[in-house]
Amino acid sequence: MSTLRFKAVEEAMGRKAMPVEIPAERPEAYYAKQVFNRQKMFEYLPKKTFDVLVDAIDNRKPLPRDYADSVAEGMKRWAIDNGARHYTHWFQPLTDGTAEKHDSFIEHDGKGGVVEKFTGKMLVQQEPDASSFPSGGIRNTFEARGYSAWDISSPAFIIGETLCIPTIFISYTGESLDYKTPLLRALNAVDKAGTRVARFFDPEVKHVNAFLGWEQEYFLVDESLYFARPDLALTGRTLMGHESAKNQQLEDHYFGAIPSRVEAFMLDLEIEAHKLGIPVKTRHNEVAPNQFELAPIFEEVNLANDHNLLIMSVMREVGRRHNFRVLLHEKPFAGVNGSGKHNNWSLGTDKGVLLFSPGKTKKENLQFITFVANTMAAVHKHNALIKASIASATNSHRLGANEAPPAIISIFTGTQLGNILEDILNGKVELQLADKEGVTVGVNQIPEILLDSTDRNRTSPFAFVGNRFEFRAMGSPANCATAMLALNAAVADQLNEFAEKVEKRLEKGEELSKVVLDEVKKLIEESRAIHFDGNGYSEEWKEEANKRGLDCETSVPKIFDAYLSKSSKEMFERTGVLSEVELEARNEVKWEMYTKKVQIEARVLGDLAINHILPVAIRYQSMLLDNVKKIIDLFPKEKALDLATDDMATIEKIAEHMKVIKKEVNEMVDARRVANKISGERNKAIAYHDTVVPHMDIIRYHIDKLELMVDNEIWPLPKYRELLFIR
Ligand code: ADP
Ligand code: MG
Repeated sequence: MSTLRFKAVEEAMGRKAMPVEIPAERPEAYYAKQVFNRQKMFEYLPKKTFDVLVDAIDNRKPLPRDYADSVAEGMKRWAIDNGARHYTHWFQPLTDGTAEKHDSFIEHDGKGGVVEKFTGKMLVQQEPDASSFPSGGIRNTFEARGYSAWDISSPAFIIGETLCIPTIFISYTGESLDYKTPLLRALNAVDKAGTRVARFFDPEVKHVNAFLGWEQEYFLVDESLYFARPDLALTGRTLMGHESAKNQQLEDHYFGAIPSRVEAFMLDLEIEAHKLGIPVKTRHNEVAPNQFELAPIFEEVNLANDHNLLIMSVMREVGRRHNFRVLLHEKPFAGVNGSGKHNNWSLGTDKGVLLFSPGKTKKENLQFITFVANTMAAVHKHNALIKASIASATNSHRLGANEAPPAIISIFTGTQLGNILEDILNGKVELQLADKEGVTVGVNQIPEILLDSTDRNRTSPFAFVGNRFEFRAMGSPANCATAMLALNAAVADQLNEFAEKVEKRLEKGEELSKVVLDEVKKLIEESRAIHFDGNGYSEEWKEEANKRGLDCETSVPKIFDAYLSKSSKEMFERTGVLSEVELEARNEVKWEMYTKKVQIEARVLGDLAINHILPVAIRYQSMLLDNVKKIIDLFPKEKALDLATDDMATIEKIAEHMKVIKKEVNEMVDARRVANKISGERNKAIAYHDTVVPHMDIIRYHIDKLELMVDNEIWPLPKYRELLFIR
């Protein structure tokens, strides 16, 4: 009897929705209660300090040092008033998730007691021992110094009794050791370049901001079942498991009624999120059973990303209160949809104009088309890099797997925008038309047309959706900064190139709208290959994309090469987002992470195969052998052979599967040994991809076959139907 599995199933089935502590006040009252936002700054800081800090935040300037102590003092008073005893710099090392090292506020008072202190120096800079974070060799362990520095654009917040200060993490020589630093640089670059271009249309524009609305998908699994699956607990995904007879075929889960245990979890999570100033708004069931989604109102990219990282850790915490484990892996279960994190991205001016939103006047629409065309050109030029920005060992199970964006980057525009682009190409757009309703297709007509646009294409990795682009290839556990820094840097670089061309022609006395339209036309022409509205899952598209010269590489370690291509290095250098040294170091980390993830999975799979599955298969095989033996003892030979035929066939089949599993596990272990000796992180990762992963697929196939044969009573691991349907 597989007691652990059945005990887990019983426990899971017995659980009821947990009570949620609902605040007496409405969300308006407790929203951002745990955040040192402007309102709290105003309350706790001297007037002058407040003005200086707000000016620094709004104009992307550093906080003058003389004001740091004053800010720290106010922040500490607020934190202590709200129960904080510790503080930490909260940063984003090149691992999954965030890092924090807590210090309490106490200092000796010189009289044998303590006082609680928090100085400007503590606020602005902390020195966490950097030696244990991946750095790709930028910083050797013996010179393990790196420091974290306050990012004033993201407000401090309190979790539990700890004041968390969002920070960047860099080496003493100034190279970034995190995701936030290059993200901020990219946002700065797109601000400058975007402003330069937006000023063609409105000279008053001071800033261009990038916005992000992430849609976080996740699975929930009951914690007893989770712990009965060592693969889930150690790797975040199931490495085996036969498909459930019913999974998502009936399409009855998407937008279905939310199960009560799950709804309690969601409500609890939303309340926590709102207290932390995370504007979560939308929740619903996703396509796969036990799969859900959470989405906020979009925010400026840096803040939105901090909020996404924060919500991922809050989700895990709140999940535990409800006896759930939150699975953020891109592909926890084979055969049903995986989890992504759509990145809804747009640009907007400080005057409130969304630049991917068609306007009412010709000018606004020319601006709209300018930003769209530049984005398409940037994504086209850097399609390999954009793909690399979302690639990982774990996301590779989702991409190209026929239910998720393909492993080729293309842009979906929809018919209406597509037609407009075509018309511009064919010289059909007449800019000199009067500003009247009902004239022939012109840039001034975009709004009516687009607002009616309803065509949606789920197979596209990068889609125009009316007022923004939706980058859908990002994996659910990833730090959005990887994609956002690549995309914003590429667009910034493209906008600069565009601005330069336009400015040159304007100097020669050419007319603005003509020049812009002409340059836009060239961009549309050059980047035609990226535009694809067809079925991204089809085989024909792979062929077609290849012909168009789009990057079609599917091996993750090789996809990472795109970071080091000439065009990527030059683009990152020009925009000041990442230096060559940083790019090279980061790729070392990426390859190393790839290898480690596959290595862990291979070890877990080997252990499960040999120590969990094979013993059970043998047990069942000997039950059958016993049975056959008894039949032969009892019945005349002829009859006995007839009666035992099926069992004998099964015995043989089990033997065959076991043989393959043993052989493959041995070969997988050997392949690992060989790969581990290879020098160079890139080569090692390629070896893991080419020689270790293929064994894992075969092993899984045979284990899943055994699952169908072996007595359900003794199968040791919770099955898919249990993991996916108990809630
Ligand atoms: P859908 O499921 O239709 O894609 P959702 O409501 O689930 O839509 O999510 C859309 C996300 O896009 C939300 O986070 C929303 O705030 C965000 N969003 C809407 N407009 C913009 C915009 N202009 N820029 C960035 N994000 C946006
Ligand atoms: Mg969406």
